[in-house]
Amino acid sequence: MTPRIDWPEGKDFAFTIFDDPDGDSVEILEVVYSFLRDLGLRTTKAVWPIRGDGTPKVGGATCEDEQYLKSVLGLKEQGFEIGFHNATYHTSTREQTTRGLEIFQQLFGHDPYSIANHTGCRESIYWGNARVSGVRQLLYNTLNLRRNGNTNLSQGHIEGSPLFWGDLCREKTKYVRNFVFGDINTFKACPVMPYHDPVRPFVNYWFASSEGANVDSFNVTVSEANQDRLAREGGACIMYTHFASKFLENGRLNERFKILMKRLSKMNGWFVPVNTLLDYVLRTRGHYVITQRERSALESRWMWHKIANTRGRS
Ligand SMILES: [Zn+2]
Repeated sequence: MTPRIDWPEGKDFAFTIFDDPDGDSVEILEVVYSFLRDLGLRTTKAVWPIRGDGTPKVGGATCEDEQYLKSVLGLKEQGFEIGFHNATYHTSTREQTTRGLEIFQQLFGHDPYSIANHTGCRESIYWGNARVSGVRQLLYNTLNLRRNGNTNLSQGHIEGSPLFWGDLCREKTKYVRNFVFGDINTFKACPVMPYHDPVRPFVNYWFASSEGANVDSFNVTVSEANQDRLAREGGACIMYTHFASKFLENGRLNERFKILMKRLSKMNGWFVPVNTLLDYVLRTRGHYVITQRERSALESRWMWHKIANTRGRS
């Protein structure tokens, strides 16, 4: 059992969101973020710094779109964290990833703090079957072959590959997202985070997140009962979502989402971006290196979640 964290300013719990840019547009950004901002929430918006020149598996707006960039810079001004979601929406070589990181730095004035791999990008870091170890890797391959016809090999961490950028990941970024769980209390599902994994040395710290890839699964995870439990447990929630995934219908924000977020924002929570939350836990608990036993337990819990949950892309 992990000791309870004393949240700053006498807050009962912490809550944040990592928003993946899949399918993003200026309209979605403006509608969703003016709503979150007015509620007093500050979260993490991940971006693609550069536009790709190939066909993406899943695409969306990038920082090369002038209007989109203007909105993203506005979010940064207002206290939202800007995160990194690979250089662009399809596989990038080392040169392209280097350029993506440089442009990120130029646009936002710092290297990325929190990052997440994008689906289908082969330069992703410890992704695909490299997310898990040992026998679970075989199980992962079997499941993925059945579902997608491939094992989604990622090469960002493989030295010698033209897609390698592990050294840059370690040098320039701090937190990388891996496992996703159904529990709203992400810290209960993954009590050791942020943790360093010596078997995956190019990532400084890993974090987990809670299931909410689209508006339906998001609303299930942040239900009234779950919000109350999160507060009771003094926990922390990092929702992983794609705000472009049905949160907006005909220009209007999903009603149930609005009700749930308004309710949550009135509770005594600490609503800060992913990096602020993780920095606080890191300062409070210190550097943590995950043990093999803890990693195996996490991997198994995630595999079960993945098998049980076919809705998410996470
Ligand atoms: Zn993505």
